[in-house]
Amino acid sequence: MKRGLLIILSGPSGVGKGTVREQLFKEESLNLAYSISMTTRYKRPGEREGIDYFFVDVDTFKKKIEQGELLEYAQFVGNYYGTPKAYVDQLLDEGKNVVLEIEVQGALQVMKKVPDALTIFLVPPSMEELERRIRGRKTEAESVMQERLAKAEREIKTKDSYKHVVVNNTVEQAANEIADIIRHNIN
Ligand code: 5GP
Repeated sequence: MKRGLLIILSGPSGVGKGTVREQLFKEESLNLAYSISMTTRYKRPGEREGIDYFFVDVDTFKKKIEQGELLEYAQFVGNYYGTPKAYVDQLLDEGKNVVLEIEVQGALQVMKKVPDALTIFLVPPSMEELERRIRGRKTEAESVMQERLAKAEREIKTKDSYKHVVVNNTVEQAANEIADIIRHNIN
């Protein structure tokens, strides 16, 4: 069986990666699978263990790093996030096209290890719109939001390391553009 394509989807906090990804996954012909990350962040209301993330403590996370079980990992605004490697490999072997929804430092690590990964960076229509979206989330303290905004500005500067940059004007438009990019790369 043909091994699947590894797809990295990055973009600043609040840009709407999760929503665009959900829309994208409705397109069954793309044969997508989502890589569930591990994190030490607290669980937001509505998030589910083993579906949105594997929520672990710092010691467990560090053990995974030491044991070489992560394809990549990074610290983001005070928490660890990483991609369990075995699961991604298994999905790729099954022929699935695997989506990693990860931040920039982790993405750069994967680009080095897997140069033919398809890399996509999602940008907001404007910084004002991004701030509105981050503030609208209301699940984070003010100081954390400030940090996420500052981080977003730094992250957007790295967009040229990605093969494709997509503007998230609307969920449908962004998901359609990404679907076209993926189709182009799997056929
Ligand atoms: P959030 O706390 O908003 O869920 O995620 C914060 C940032 O971490 C987002 O940019 C998200 O894409 C990223 N992220 C989620 N999982 C991973 C991962 O496994 N590795 C890396 N490097 N970043 C991740």
